[in-house]
Order: sequence, then structure tokens, then C-alpha cells
Amino acid sequence: MAAAEIISDELGRFGIDSVIDSWGQNRANITAQVQSGGRKGAVLFACHLDVVGPGEADWRNPPFEAVESKGRIYGRGSADMKGGITAVVSAIGQIVKSGTNLKGDIVFFAAAGEETDSCGAKRFIRDSSRRLPELVGVVIPEPTDFEIVTAHRGLLWLNVKTKGRAAHGSTPQLGVNAISSMRVLLNELEGYKIQFEPHELLGESSMSINTIAGGEEINVVPDECSIGIDIRTLPAQNHQEVISDFERIFAKLKSRNSQFDAEVSIVREVGALETDNNCGFVRDFCSAVGVSETKAVGFTTDGPFFASLGVPVVIFGPGKPEVCHKPDEYIDIADVEKAVEYYKKVILRFLT
Ligand SMILES: [Zn+2]
Repeated sequence: MAAAEIISDELGRFGIDSVIDSWGQNRANITAQVQSGGRKGAVLFACHLDVVGPGEADWRNPPFEAVESKGRIYGRGSADMKGGITAVVSAIGQIVKSGTNLKGDIVFFAAAGEETDSCGAKRFIRDSSRRLPELVGVVIPEPTDFEIVTAHRGLLWLNVKTKGRAAHGSTPQLGVNAISSMRVLLNELEGYKIQFEPHELLGESSMSINTIAGGEEINVVPDECSIGIDIRTLPAQNHQEVISDFERIFAKLKSRNSQFDAEVSIVREVGALETDNNCGFVRDFCSAVGVSETKAVGFTTDGPFFASLGVPVVIFGPGKPEVCHKPDEYIDIADVEKAVEYYKKVILRFLT
């Protein structure tokens, strides 16, 4: 909410009105639209307001004080993605201030929850059908170090729970041990491979079991055990097929032992992104910023939610992707300034 208000004030300095949509506990989206009266399709700059936590490791500077040193700003979110937001807001402000005659609208949007559940982007998409102008393309100012990214894998995070029956630890034969059931399931998953066709840019799908929890007391037979699985998917992959695979495995284990009981639920899912590199928007974007190649990356963004509007999405912004989500995250001030110039070129290319 505070981040949205700072952006709203900054846009206000350029005479640009914005709308803050807030909900829940401290959640907010902010949207602003520079209207042109022209006939060209609008360009949407889609950002996110939230950051990941500072983590356990020590930082040289406090993570939330935006310390400036030697041409860099250090702090959580400096690269991911306050630098990008700053550059977009400045670029839009400068274009408006210059009195440029725009032939299409600029839409600015910054979402809550990109790092957790994409709640902000989903809410925006849900409400957008009645109030968005026709879009020519979407720019996501995530830190790509000025590389144009048009593809990334999707993610499917699953929670798998085995269920048993509690009993006193001294009489385990009266219960069903959920940890034992999980052991059987884990053995089975060792041999499980997700079916996929490798993608020419994104490579392979992956799966990693990254959390496990079960049992409450050393003298109680556990009635629940759960694991968290991080699956990264390719554009052609259907998430529901993976879920069905798990359900088939459960059925197989139950047929071997009727006391086996497990269920799977989705913690989070985001589709993969694959923008057609030969479409007009990508080609014109490349020529506007003077970069000829596009890339695929390992991280995931809110991009697929915007792609669901049927418009091309590119990810392009200041900051090094490798400093994100780590201690001592920073952004070079010169890169933010460079990004302002790039975004102005993009606006002029598509909207004049
Ligand atoms: Zn980000």
C-alpha cells in the first residue's frame, strides 16, 4: 500500500492520475492511464510492488534503507523491481511533460503479490476486460540487464499429504503411520518422470521435492505427513496431466496397501510464457531498443497472466537478474537512467 502511494504521488507530480485498488491486509494494485484520443493500440507496462524477504544471511547494509554507495542503490527490491518501476514512471512522466502528441494510450500497472501468489495480476486481469483499451503489447520491466526476454518456464507448486491414523507411540499397530506412507510414496516418486517434449529455448521440465513435514510428538504415531514439490513446466505442458499422474500413483499404492491414503493440492501455478518472436510487437520492440536477439530465462513472472489477454508480452528492464532474491541486492543508478531512455523510445515507437 505504501509503495503504491509513493508511485501515485510521483505520477501526480507529472499531472497523471492513478487509481489504487486495495484489499485484504495491506494489499494494493496501482493503475494509471495516459489517454491519447488516438487510434493506436495501448502499451501496458506491468510491474510488481512486492519484494521477497531479506533472508537469513547478513547484509552489508540494512535491506530496507535503500543505501546509496558508489553509483549503486543497495536494498531488497532495488533490482527486482523498484529500478524498473522508477524508470517506467520517469519515462511516462517525461513523455507527458514534453507534450508529445500520443496516438495511443500508455497504461501503467503495478501489482501486489507477484512473488507469492500473483493475486494482484489475477485481480487486474479479472477486472480489466471492461476498462482496458485495446493493447498492442505488454512490457514487464523486470531486471533482465537489458536483454529482451520472451519466454520462461511455468511453475506448478504442489503440496502432497499422506494421511494416517494417530495412535499412542507405544502401540503403533493400532494406528496408520503417515510418515511410513510418505516413505513409500517418496520411493515411488524416485522413479517418476514428468512426460514432456524438450523445448528449443527452455530446455526441460524439472521437479524437486523441497520441503517435508510430519509428526507432532515423539510418542504419537503421526496422522499426517506432507511434502512440497516445485515443478517447472514448459509451454506445451498441461498442469492437470501432472496432477493426474500423482493421482494414478496414489491409486497404485492404495491397491498394494488399502491403508495408504494421500491427496495432492496446488499451492501455486503460473503458466509458461512464450511470445512469438516473429510478431510485429517483438520485432518493433527489438528495433526500438536496438537489441536484435531475444532470450528465454529460468525465472517466472506475471507475464503469462497478461499473455492470457491475447497480447504479446516482453520482459525487459534494468538490473542484473543474478542479484535478485539474494543479500546485498543492488541496482546501478546509471542503468535506471539508461532504462528511462529505452522506455521513452518504446513509447515513441508504438504510440506516435
Ligand atoms: Zn520481479
